[in-house]
Amino acid sequence: MATGSEQIFRLDGKVALVTGAGRGLGAEIAALLAGAGAAVMVTDIDESAAQRTAQKIVEDGGSAQAAGQDVTNEQQWEGTVAKTIEGLGGLHILINNAGIETMATFADCELDDFKNVQNINVNGVFLGIKHAIRAMRPDGGCGQGGAIVNLSSVAGIGGYPGLGAYCASKGAVRLMTKAAAVECAAFEYGIRVNSLHPGLIKTEMGNNVLKGFVRIGLAEDETAADALLLAMQPLGFGQPDDVANAALFLASDAAKWITGTELGVDGGARA
Ligand code: NAD
Repeated sequence: MATGSEQIFRLDGKVALVTGAGRGLGAEIAALLAGAGAAVMVTDIDESAAQRTAQKIVEDGGSAQAAGQDVTNEQQWEGTVAKTIEGLGGLHILINNAGIETMATFADCELDDFKNVQNINVNGVFLGIKHAIRAMRPDGGCGQGGAIVNLSSVAGIGGYPGLGAYCASKGAVRLMTKAAAVECAAFEYGIRVNSLHPGLIKTEMGNNVLKGFVRIGLAEDETAADALLLAMQPLGFGQPDDVANAALFLASDAAKWITGTELGVDGGARA
């Protein structure tokens, strides 16, 4: 039984929805929130991957359900939020984690690829904020307030070569977070909204970024790409649990006076 300072990081009785949680950072975040006592709705466009994450949580003694969800589809947001409230008894935490990257220079980036990144990373987060607020605010379907955590990136604060479309999208997430935070506070919804800004973590996405540096000619091979990234991150590469721990903090009552903040989880990359 957690006591004192440990207790404020617990999520007992809370319900969390984590998007893009079939693998990578989302899967790690879902597992950590469940370990802290939350019932978790695990969603992903890849429904079987979401089911695997939820099954692992349940095997480890946690509470979770899974659903297929494309974050760019508004009807699916409505359905997923309703399913979460009906199936798990509420909605107190939303982690807008689903996202994609594309690696191309501005001169070579196709407009369709640029738009696809904005659609998933920006429109998807917008829809998540919209439907979470509708559920969490006092007159909403759940009505108990809550916490929204949006996955931005170090590339939502500074520019990186080859990542123009991704930087544009993550910069939008950063400011959308702040706008939602002050709006929720102004209307006294009891909803906090914050963004996380990870540096490079070697998930499937992280490994693709390293390969992309080689493909567009920024590094000779993957060893050189690794060295390039290491030079930018004073503490080296992070692990998925570094991001999950920060998500838990922002979702928990330990962060009850924190809203609209941009939390770097980047081994000192932006120091
Ligand atoms: P990942 O590619 O390993 O996993 C992303 C997950 O999102 C996948 O399971 C995928 O199926 C899902 N997804 C993709 N499109 C979707 C859609 N339209 N609807 C629902 N789900 C969809 O990526 P990751 O490394 O785990 O990254 C998670 C988040 O963290 C992303 O928003 C990413 O931009 C951000 N981030 C990652 C890093 C990193 O280095 N890995 C750094 C900074 C920020």
